[in-house]
Amino acid sequence: MRWAERSRRAFVEGPGRGVFGIVQGGIHPDLRLRSAAKLIAIGFDGYAVGGLAIGEGQTTTFLVLDTTVPALPEDRPRYLMGVGKPADLVGAVLRGIDMFDCVLPTRSGRTAQAFTRRGTVNLRNARHADDPAPLDPQCLCPACTGFSRAYLHHLSRGGEILGSMLLTAHNLRYYADLMAAMRAAIATGSLAAFAAAFAEAQEESPRRETK
Ligand SMILES: [Zn+2]
Repeated sequence: MRWAERSRRAFVEGPGRGVFGIVQGGIHPDLRLRSAAKLIAIGFDGYAVGGLAIGEGQTTTFLVLDTTVPALPEDRPRYLMGVGKPADLVGAVLRGIDMFDCVLPTRSGRTAQAFTRRGTVNLRNARHADDPAPLDPQCLCPACTGFSRAYLHHLSRGGEILGSMLLTAHNLRYYADLMAAMRAAIATGSLAAFAAAFAEAQEESPRRETK
């Protein structure tokens, strides 16, 4: 908290710039609420929820958000750090989160894993070897509009850099489309219905906590 105060004081205001306070407190609701209250007293442009998605599992992440997010000001952006899989994003937005950052779309793109409206697809899998269909027929990215699953499979198996580039482009497009769809659903008051349809469309259900 001393560091947060020093950071707030040291921050130089400017157009398009802001400084966020980071709520800590692990999985302890009382510590999360104390942290949020102290940061709000200092006063920040936005509030981040830190220290999650480090192995505690989705159920616990969501429980912490259920406690923490309602304690943060509604008129400031709320940012969940280091998250996550598509189902994590949907669940967090349902709980009031506005912003994310994560390596997953790009790192997964480099290891032949694609996120789609029908769940996660591993292009290295042999079942794609002769598949002329696009990765995701609803996606407008270069990988889906220009190439077949079979070709993406070939690139991935051959270690061709083009495979990493195309799947990275696809995953970034998918994440951007997912967030745009949630913004549209919020605008029409239909986010809960969107989340239900999203969960149903994901053939591979979100990975559940196992420990
Ligand atoms: Zn695509």
